[in-house]
Amino acid sequence: MELHGKSIVGGKVTASSGARTFTGVAAATGEKLQPVFHEATPAEADRALELAAVAFEEYRRQLPEAIAKFLERAADEIMALGDELLHRASVETGLPVPRLTGERARTMGQLRMFAELIRDGSWLEATIDHAIPDRKPLPKPDLRRMLVPIGPVVVFGASNFPLAYSVAGGDTASALAAGNPVVVKAHPAHPGTSEMVARAIHAAAEATGMPAGVFSMVQGASTDIGVHLVRHPATKAVGFTGSLGGGRALFNAAAARPEPIPVYAEMGSTNPVFVLPGALQKNGGAIAEGLVQSVTLGVGQFCTNPGLVFGKQDANWTAFVDRARQLVDAVAPGVMLHQGIADKFHSGAERMGKVGGVALAGKSSAEAAKNSGAAMVFATDAKTFRGQEVLREEVFGPSTLLVNCGSTEELEAIARELPGQLTATVHGTEEDLLQHAKLVDILRQKAGRLIFNQFPTGVEVCPSMVHGGPYPATTDSRTTSVGAFAIKRFARPVCYQNFPDAALPAELRNKNARGIWRLVDGKFAKDDA
Ligand code: NAP
Repeated sequence: MELHGKSIVGGKVTASSGARTFTGVAAATGEKLQPVFHEATPAEADRALELAAVAFEEYRRQLPEAIAKFLERAADEIMALGDELLHRASVETGLPVPRLTGERARTMGQLRMFAELIRDGSWLEATIDHAIPDRKPLPKPDLRRMLVPIGPVVVFGASNFPLAYSVAGGDTASALAAGNPVVVKAHPAHPGTSEMVARAIHAAAEATGMPAGVFSMVQGASTDIGVHLVRHPATKAVGFTGSLGGGRALFNAAAARPEPIPVYAEMGSTNPVFVLPGALQKNGGAIAEGLVQSVTLGVGQFCTNPGLVFGKQDANWTAFVDRARQLVDAVAPGVMLHQGIADKFHSGAERMGKVGGVALAGKSSAEAAKNSGAAMVFATDAKTFRGQEVLREEVFGPSTLLVNCGSTEELEAIARELPGQLTATVHGTEEDLLQHAKLVDILRQKAGRLIFNQFPTGVEVCPSMVHGGPYPATTDSRTTSVGAFAIKRFARPVCYQNFPDAALPAELRNKNARGIWRLVDGKFAKDDA
């Protein structure tokens, strides 16, 4: 496929003369890639949202089956891009083709999962409370509620998942599934990959008869265009995956609009791991191995990378730190997603190493190139950790900080002081768990996912997954960006009071023609109401 390097707005390829330009860059070599990409102008961004607003009128009335077919066709079109897509993504990100093959499967799986979800229809939370005309002292009216789409959604993807959290990632799939048009701001670290996927979605929209403005993607290498999209009055919600700085800037821009809108930003996390004494004694070596694998997987470029590890100081902890040090020594440095990420990792690791009381316990023995990340394990004590705010910040890359603590109370105090997290992990025996029930309870207040005797990297896509958590892990702890429930971010409840049956949406009529689960007078049922 010959790339055009332009934005795709309402199905049309567009670039303005005099627009800022940029190129993709090969992560491994730093070489500039063809073609030149044109940053969308504010006028092009406006057009994308105007078309999305028009498309919303028609798209939200599509039958679930039609939207499901669109999503499935998008998955097929992405697959049809074949190895060319994987190759371009690999060159742009430095991620190996086998990893990207898995990520593509996940991306298509998400599109298909949402197709099935909307076919099923139970996600709409249809709820019916019949009227009680003779209720005293006042009659009760007939009330029926369900979820409806929110309106055009602007999506920002992260650099570390060029497929699964990008143009056709979970945010786009869930927003489209809920019945909303989507405008994607492509990540400038993989513009070619983005163009290919956007063309696939557009082809699917066309083939399934969707309105032209249902999907647009604007290119851009500066943050201005993203902020412009968020400020546009037609934008009704934002999905973001990326850094804390980026997510917060967009959240602030959305809150400052005359009409504030929700921003579902999934941001960084340090994913604390607590290794309890029984587990250390029984399994310390194996836990150290699992930890180093998790920390260095994908050159540590996962939002669920375990960046902080806590345990009680004893001989087992010392052996654990020593084992982690030995293991990390043997890990080869890996090419990072782009030079900006590599530079940030190097400066973050340097900042950590310079804190008094923090020691570099171990590091990949092989020399790392400028664009690569060498695995590192730092060690410190609880007093130093608690005194230095900077040590709680995410260092995005293959490093972790091991913190020795003096007592259970100190572990609890540290957990209480942690900011919000995507995940929190406990390694322990069942006895450890009983003895540290309070710690687990504190962690439940801090994280979206609690993990026992496993590691946080690897986020399963299924209905029970929560990929979210209290701020600063996200800007809204009540939701998830992964799994079936991600769709609810882009819908809002509407209540119909006293409407005649025939005028209600199919899901709320007395006859349950779609056979969905509904809450009828307080009881879940698939029967007619
Ligand atoms: P990023 O630099 O924040 O970029 C994400 C997107 O946001 C890009 O399109 C970027 O566009 C835009 N953006 C960033 N700052 C902006 C601003 N101030 N105003 C407007 N737009 C802005 O993130 P990244 O480097 O791709 O990803 C790495 C980070 O993402 C890590 O911290 C990682 O932990 C986090 N992450 C989180 C999750 C999760 O689910 N929570 C998943 C993966 C990654 P420009 O580049 O054009 O500015």
